[in-house]
Amino acid sequence: MKKLGLLTTLVIASLVLTGCNCKVSDNETLNQISLLQGLTLGDYYGSKPIKEVKKLGDTGLGTFDGLNWELIMLNGTIYRANEDLSIEIPSDDELIPFANVTFFDNDLKYQIKHIRDIQELKAELDREIEELWNNRFYFITLSWNFDEMHIRSERKQEEPYKPLVDVLRVDQTEKKLTNVEGTVVALYTPDYMGDLNAAGWHFHFITNDKTEGWHVLNLSFDEGTVTWDFTDNFKLHLPEWKFFKSLDLTVNQEDDIKEVEQGK
Ligand SMILES: [Zn+2]
Repeated sequence: MKKLGLLTTLVIASLVLTGCNCKVSDNETLNQISLLQGLTLGDYYGSKPIKEVKKLGDTGLGTFDGLNWELIMLNGTIYRANEDLSIEIPSDDELIPFANVTFFDNDLKYQIKHIRDIQELKAELDREIEELWNNRFYFITLSWNFDEMHIRSERKQEEPYKPLVDVLRVDQTEKKLTNVEGTVVALYTPDYMGDLNAAGWHFHFITNDKTEGWHVLNLSFDEGTVTWDFTDNFKLHLPEWKFFKSLDLTVNQEDDIKEVEQGK
């Protein structure tokens, strides 16, 4: 074994002493905090602090404790998109009830053109997945100037929490941006994951200047750069809270999840 130089030893020692933000996950693992099915039943109690989530990935989507607006993670930074669409960087101690994160690898990159709505985008991406392999996870980023970006966010909730589908019927804000430059972060989960997450695509958006963003309901663009990260492994981080343990997760929530992800 190679002997460590004095400098290397000092660097390692100082990292141990200061407590580094070291990554604990590899690039090929999709990490999931809790189940979407817990969130949809009203479990908005955060279980993992942001500083721990950052060790599991640099790209992702999710929400905050109490359903405190939308979470978008890009290049290692977690952003919160607030009610007025403004973006802030939450503190490392804030708790996350649900998120999917991974360390993003650039496995495939190309241009896609003439997308008139989100259904066309999904069809285009699904065609690529048919060729790649539809039984694993994919994260993508999609960057360009979007002609239309229709986005929404749920409002922060107070206890006692109501189910997500009820929240979105009364506490949801929508907005349409036009001619806006930014990045869509999206996750594809295979069909067999339907009891743990929403099977299929889930899209979030943030502008290039990091001033606006939310969950995407619809979009259109003339040309965009899509970058794919192929992810074969999956790790689930279950909350240890009593509330989560009390949930009946055997209830079929397929219709509610569709409504939650795609809107009415
Ligand atoms: Zn979302």
